Amino acid sequence: MPNTKDQLVKALTNDQNFRVLAVNATDVVKTAQQAHHLQSTSAVALGRTLVASLLLANSALKGKEGMTIRLNGQGPVGGMLIDADAAGHVKGYVQHPDIDLPRLNDGEIDVAAGVGTDGFLEVLKNLGGTEPYSSSVPLVSGKIGDDFAYYLAKSEQIPSALGVSVEINEQNEVEVAGGYLIQTMPGADEDAIEKLEKRLKTLPGIAITLKEYGNPEHLIDVIFGAENVKILQHLPVSFYCDCSKEKFAQRLAGIGRKDLQEIIDEDHGAEVVCNFCGTKYDFSEDDLVNILNKQAKGGNHE
Ligand SMILES: [Zn+2]
Repeated sequence: MPNTKDQLVKALTNDQNFRVLAVNATDVVKTAQQAHHLQSTSAVALGRTLVASLLLANSALKGKEGMTIRLNGQGPVGGMLIDADAAGHVKGYVQHPDIDLPRLNDGEIDVAAGVGTDGFLEVLKNLGGTEPYSSSVPLVSGKIGDDFAYYLAKSEQIPSALGVSVEINEQNEVEVAGGYLIQTMPGADEDAIEKLEKRLKTLPGIAITLKEYGNPEHLIDVIFGAENVKILQHLPVSFYCDCSKEKFAQRLAGIGRKDLQEIIDEDHGAEVVCNFCGTKYDFSEDDLVNILNKQAKGGNHE
C-alpha cells in the first residue's frame, strides 16, 4: 500500500457490468491551491477538473501515454489546462486563480457560475504517435463531473457516471477532494444499470465518505457493496510537474538571438515562472549569455 492517502483504485464488479475507478486526491488539490494561490471558486473549479482528469486519464490510457485537457466555459475563472498521465500524475492551472464568488444558499461553492457553460471540453491524447488524438464536446453543466461524463458518452461511446467533489472550509482551504468514475461494460445488464442509477441518487456525499475513511475503496464499497466488487489496482496519485531550469533554458534558446540579446541588455537577467506549478526559475545575465553562446555554436555548424 502506498504511504500517502492520495491514491486511485481500479475495480470491476463481480457481475462484469461495470468498471469502476475511485480516487482520493486531497493532497493533489491542496498542492494546486498552494502553487496557484487559489481562491474558493477557482480552487473548486480547478480541483474538480484535476480529479476528473485523473479519473479519465487512468481509465483511458496505459504505459507512458498522457493527455492534455482544455476546458473553458467563458465564466469568470476562465480557461483551465490540465496534463494527466496513466501513472497517476496530474498538473494544471486556471486562467484566473483569484475568483471568489458568493456561495449558494446551501453553502456550496457555485462552480457552474464560475466555470460557465458557453464553451468546450477538449481532450488531446498523446498515444506515442506523431499526431495527438483530439476530441471535444460542448460543456453541458459547468459543474465538471457531468461535463466529463458527457465527453465519455459522446466521444468515446462509453456510458459513464462521473462524480467529483472538492470541499473548502470557511477559511477557503481545501479539506478533501476526490471522485469516482463508473463505466458501463459492453452488454451490461439493463436492470443492473437501472439499479445503479437509483443508487447513485441516494448516495452519501463523496466528501463525507472520503473524510470518514480516507481510502477511496470505500467510495466503491458504498456504491456497490464490498462483496460485489473485485479490486484490481491501487495507484498513488500526485500533483507532479516535470519542469526544470534546463527545460526553460531550451525554451529561452528558442526565442531567437535578437530577443535574447535584448533581455540581456535591458533586464540583465530573467525570471521565468512555470504556469503549471508556479515554480520560479532565475536566469542571471551569465546564464543568458551562456544560452546565447551555445545557440551561436549550434547555429554556425552548417
Ligand atoms: Zn512546473
